[in-house]
Amino acid sequence: MVDFDALITQEAFQTYPFRIDKCSYSQGYVLQRVYRCLTCNPAAEGEIPRVTCYACSISCHAEHEIEELWLKRSIRCDCCTVGNTSQCFLENEKYPVNEKQPYLDKNSKDYHNYFGKFCFCDSSYDPEKETREMLQCISCFDWFHDSCIEQNIDLESFDSFICRNCVPNFQPFLEHLIGLEANHPCTFNSNGDCYLQEEWRSKVCRCPNCLTFEREFPFLFSEETPYDPPEDVILTPAENLMDGVFNKILTDHQNDISSLPQPAIIDAIHEYNDLKTEFNAFCNNFKDKIISEQVSKHIQKFFEEFKAKKANKVN
Ligand SMILES: [Zn+2]
Ligand SMILES: [Zn+2]
Ligand SMILES: [Zn+2]
Ligand SMILES: [Zn+2]
Ligand SMILES: [Zn+2]
Ligand SMILES: [Zn+2]
Repeated sequence: MVDFDALITQEAFQTYPFRIDKCSYSQGYVLQRVYRCLTCNPAAEGEIPRVTCYACSISCHAEHEIEELWLKRSIRCDCCTVGNTSQCFLENEKYPVNEKQPYLDKNSKDYHNYFGKFCFCDSSYDPEKETREMLQCISCFDWFHDSCIEQNIDLESFDSFICRNCVPNFQPFLEHLIGLEANHPCTFNSNGDCYLQEEWRSKVCRCPNCLTFEREFPFLFSEETPYDPPEDVILTPAENLMDGVFNKILTDHQNDISSLPQPAIIDAIHEYNDLKTEFNAFCNNFKDKIISEQVSKHIQKFFEEFKAKKANKVN
């Protein structure tokens, strides 16, 4: 049974305006938001974790325990591969495991992120309890507590942050950034972390030596753009939600449905389109309002009334 409430809370008033019916697998290894499903792939540290793209985290794992890993570089969705134990509802094919995932390198600096650990202090993140600011290193993408970076950090004084673990990878590049400008945009704290001020990329040095870093660390020279699923321009979130639910029902009951006579299937599609139109109109009443228990109850009532109306029609 589809848990409408869970789906609605997650999706109808979604944070990201992206379509949830397009898996990013075909994009290959790209910079994107990824998630871990702990229900499908509960790997412990040292074992192989798996990740899903934004769309799959909602469409394929809506009722599972999901952990957001934020942006990761050169990573591919595992949901539609044999590495994932559950079914992907967005891709028809089961692809072989992704051999080049960054989490396969246990020595990578952000490896512990895949197991819910962050920062130099290797602690887990609890959005309910965490009171400290966290900064993301633009190189390794690990997150760090302000107080673990240094005491009395001035968060307003810089734009980008590079952690002390990453600085040695391109120290000569950072030194040239300091050397060439009187008002150079790069400073270090006593722990060896690097702060970069706004517009720092427009001031990078392009001498032959610095340019040798461009291949391995292109983000030092131009800002990275994450892959986002296509924006939801045609469907409203409500319609999108309904389609997601409908597709899941279709997939779950594929065998029952294919044995139905064709007129019954066409009827069902018409019914479904009615429901979608009405649900969309209904959701427009709540546009821009934050979901609450109250709204949740309205939605439940909507479905009850719709069911009653259909029952009346049949009788
Ligand atoms: Zn996916
Ligand atoms: Zn799952
Ligand atoms: Zn999927
Ligand atoms: Zn910390
Ligand atoms: Zn780093
Ligand atoms: Zn240089």
